[in-house]
Amino acid sequence: MQTVSTAAELTAAIDEERDLPGCAGLKVAFVPTMGALHDGHLSLVRQAREYADLVVVSIFVNPLQFGAGEDFDKYPRTLEADAAVLEAAGADVLFAPTVDVVYPDGVEAANAAAAARPALQSGAVGKTFEGAARPGHFDGMLTVVARLFELVNPDFAVFGAKDAQQLFLIKRMAATEFPDLHIIEAPIVRETSGLAMSSRNRYLDAAALEVAGQLSKALNVGKAAAETLGAKPSLAVNAARARLEGVPEAKLDYLALVDPSSFELIDDSFTGRALMLIAAVVGNTRLIDNLTIDFQEPFA
Ligand code: AMP
Repeated sequence: MQTVSTAAELTAAIDEERDLPGCAGLKVAFVPTMGALHDGHLSLVRQAREYADLVVVSIFVNPLQFGAGEDFDKYPRTLEADAAVLEAAGADVLFAPTVDVVYPDGVEAANAAAAARPALQSGAVGKTFEGAARPGHFDGMLTVVARLFELVNPDFAVFGAKDAQQLFLIKRMAATEFPDLHIIEAPIVRETSGLAMSSRNRYLDAAALEVAGQLSKALNVGKAAAETLGAKPSLAVNAARARLEGVPEAKLDYLALVDPSSFELIDDSFTGRALMLIAAVVGNTRLIDNLTIDFQEPFA
């Protein structure tokens, strides 16, 4: 695996592989991350391997997607350990740029340039759920993802279903801005407790991890209510919420059902596959998770 940090080095590393005999049409798969890697990230790398000949992983903690008072400064940065696990997982190129490589004209200019590109605006969906709690987060996220796509120019890009709203917005953005790029969705990787893996889980001590594990349990209660007991959407939400009533240490922000095709709330007339979203703060750590739930009439 080659580790590169500038745009020129990145292009050279990819071209070097393309120039090998018989590699002219080589396909590139890209996995963008913020580092502090765990098995969820590595599952994306393995998935990328299945689609392409060359796997590029980026590690970049994007200042544009963190709000004032969020954890940009203390976000875990573990580049050496990350490089070792990426090499073992079969990544070919690790792109670990500095802020000035990603935003050569500065962060303010990048923001202004993105504001002039409607496809990089997260719009109404970007103001709900995570976007309501983290104003500007999704615009900053779309800006960096588009910039990284421009730098890497991949054929495939792999994202985790864990960040469902992010994935929805990236798919929408890529459809117009990068029409030849295939966006691949990778399933959520969980701890044995059910807790969705996250770089932010490093902030949690044993007691907080126990509390955090209740989020996925609540989602599963909602799923069982719908898929086993035939509950309609509002009752499935109630069942999941009730599961968290005995867990005051998890400060629930939202628990809601959306239509994955629009990311809008569903009502009780909805049938088909919905997405139950949850966000809660445990200690000072914001955690998110989601689960697909199938609703079929007649409801109980
Ligand atoms: P992050 O480093 O948190 O920005 O995440 C980088 C990528 O890894 C995103 O596409 C995330 O959705 C994905 N990811 C993070 N956690 C998980 C997980 N537990 N399972 C699957 N994908 C994940």
